[in-house]
Amino acid sequence: MTVKAFRRIAQRYWDDLLRGEILNEAFLRALIGPVGIVIGLMIAERLFAPILPYGRGLSVLYVLPIWFAAKTGGRLVGITTVIAVLAAFQITTPAEKPFMATLLQFVIFTTLMLGFEGMEKRLESVTHQADTDALTGLLNRRAFTMQGRKALGKCIAEKQDAAVLLFDCDKFKQINDIHGHKAGDQALTILAHALELCAQEGDVVSRLGGDEFVVLLTESDSIGTGFYLTNVRRMLAEASQSLPFEIAVSVGVARFGHDGRSLDALMTAADEAMFRNKNEARAAVTIKSIAESHRSQNLG
Ligand code: GH3
Ligand code: MG
Repeated sequence: MTVKAFRRIAQRYWDDLLRGEILNEAFLRALIGPVGIVIGLMIAERLFAPILPYGRGLSVLYVLPIWFAAKTGGRLVGITTVIAVLAAFQITTPAEKPFMATLLQFVIFTTLMLGFEGMEKRLESVTHQADTDALTGLLNRRAFTMQGRKALGKCIAEKQDAAVLLFDCDKFKQINDIHGHKAGDQALTILAHALELCAQEGDVVSRLGGDEFVVLLTESDSIGTGFYLTNVRRMLAEASQSLPFEIAVSVGVARFGHDGRSLDALMTAADEAMFRNKNEARAAVTIKSIAESHRSQNLG
């Protein structure tokens, strides 16, 4: 970290302060935790002073509020916490300190805080990647299981209706074979977009893999579920109009309480219902095509 970089950060900090973008409610709220820890450490140092080794106090523990600030509040809260830590040092060990020593402490703590912030950001991005399906941006199966269980638990606690909907594209291999893999990817992206756009806050939408998707609808009775399906089908029909292929899906619905009481049970029930519907639709198409070929033979 160069002096130039520090000056740049300080300048930005100062500009934001002048524009009134710092001392807002969110900033002050994010500061409560780290400053609370600093004050707690100061009190602990006072209380335990007689038993602390070599009179060194708890100075090493002051990295905790700095890490916490960088994690929850970002850079500006982090720098403010560094200043709070230096002020705490001044209060707990009031001996005259040369300005350069305090400046060096500021540089060391700020560098540490920026390191923590960078690590937290990288961790967040890795976690996001681990939870997300790369093609559609939806949650993957693993993340769905975790978030779905949480959302279902909330529904149960609040005595709300919930349903699991399992979707599988019909004749998807044909889209790939006839129009190419890119067209297949486009179809999957359109379906993902429709499923997400029709969902409401609290619902969990995921691509399980291949051409299979799952949606946990929360606060949704059978009328709400029907409404959701109608909207999805309408969006797919509209999208298909401008495509050289049709995006069609088979759906299985499992309602909480009626078809199962856990996410796993609901997913199994929805999967079975989806396959039943797919097979019934296939059988209907076959019967229809046999009837049509009979009719054309009779006509011929
Ligand atoms: P059905 O009507 O019985 O569901 O038949 P289907 O042709 O849809 O066959 P199925 O669901 O068994 O197969 C899904 C296909 O999806 C298999 C695979 O080639 C294709 N696929 C899986 N992942 C991707 C992907 O990320 N992109 C594309 N383009 N195709 C994929
Ligand atoms: Mg399929």
